[in-house]
Amino acid sequence: MEIRENILLAPYTTFRIGGPARWSIDASSEAELTEAVTFARGKQSGLSVLGGGSNLLVADKGFPGVVVRVAMRGIREESDGAHIVFTAAAGEDWDSFVSTVVARDCAGVECMAGIPGTVGGTPVQNVGAYGQEVSSTIVAVRALDRTNLRMVDFAAAACQFGYRRSIFNSISRDRYIVTEVGYRLRLHGAPHLAYKDLAEKFADDPIVPSLAQVSQTVRDIRRTKGMLLVEGDPDCRSAGSFFKNPVVSESQLADISARVTKEANLAGSTPAHSIPHFAAEPGTVKLLAGWLIEHAGFPTGFALGKAGISSRHRLAIVNRGEATASEVLALRDQIRKRVIAQFGICLEQEPVYVSGA
Ligand SMILES: Cc1cc2nc3c(=O)[nH]c(=O)nc-3n(C[C@H](O)[C@H](O)[C@H](O)COP(=O)(O)OP(=O)(O)OC[C@H]3O[C@@H](n4cnc5c(N)ncnc54)[C@H](O)[C@@H]3O)c2cc1C
Repeated sequence: MEIRENILLAPYTTFRIGGPARWSIDASSEAELTEAVTFARGKQSGLSVLGGGSNLLVADKGFPGVVVRVAMRGIREESDGAHIVFTAAAGEDWDSFVSTVVARDCAGVECMAGIPGTVGGTPVQNVGAYGQEVSSTIVAVRALDRTNLRMVDFAAAACQFGYRRSIFNSISRDRYIVTEVGYRLRLHGAPHLAYKDLAEKFADDPIVPSLAQVSQTVRDIRRTKGMLLVEGDPDCRSAGSFFKNPVVSESQLADISARVTKEANLAGSTPAHSIPHFAAEPGTVKLLAGWLIEHAGFPTGFALGKAGISSRHRLAIVNRGEATASEVLALRDQIRKRVIAQFGICLEQEPVYVSGA
């Protein structure tokens, strides 16, 4: 196991931002992962887990402890009647995994094609896109418990998945390091076309599209929005969506609408259009963070120093070239402040901030 010192983290993140890690280790097996955790303990330092670096913002000063890059590889499969359970090592590239299972004509993750990062990162925030979430196919997650160095096998229910949430980024944050994930996919299953934009693309087709067509269409749509990693595309130097879509109660939605209408009336402007929302858990609705941001005065392409909002996606904060983490945080704070002032909602940050603090 090689231990490297003072390696810059920026190149290991999709934001391309961040200072060095005091120590950095690539763990290619569960044994190496255990060794890395033991090493960090010996140094009495913090430990941060790095997958594909696509949902992280690393501080300008970097991380003063050990950064472990999860580098285990391999995919096993087991047939289970009409389904196949694919168990993939945490260091596998997620989009390549999607291509592999789609090529096997297995349904369940085709709409999540093109999401950057590793397999191990997917259960952490219950990755999702275009109407699918990994929680609907994950059957098992294996992880190292950092507190006692034992391996734990979680059934899906124990992961307590929710919208961009699991135990791994909430109640047990920083406790477990995921080493493999099992996904149960339907052999020869039909593609999931619940998402309006995606369904419309195939609306005129007389036959049901193949999984491969759907996953390719998702990648094409993502590319137009700067949500696919494309070398040289400045709009994808980001961590994807920077804020989660807020979930509020129906009565909160009524309050926000009344407040917006009142302010518009006071200002003598046209009363607000209705606030777009979708049904979520019973009694709650999901608002669109992008809409709130835009209506708080931050259009796509907005710039603050070298940080900005993507020109093609209103939820993505981008590095416009040599931006610092401080600049990204300054833009975040400005957005949050105005959204609170205008709508009374505090937007929750999606990417994890990695710092020594
Ligand atoms: C252009 C772009 C588009 C995106 N689109 C989407 C989208 O459509 N939907 C979506 O949900 N997300 C999206 N994301 C966010 C991101 O791709 C996902 O969250 C991804 O799953 C993160 O995986 P990662 O391996 O890169 O994790 P990292 O960014 O390396 O880490 C993120 C967090 O997970 C932890 N972590 C990573 N691996 C492990 C592990 N093995 N064990 C324990 N903890 C771990 C890290 O410690 C950190 O806290 C997008 C990002 C970008 C840049």
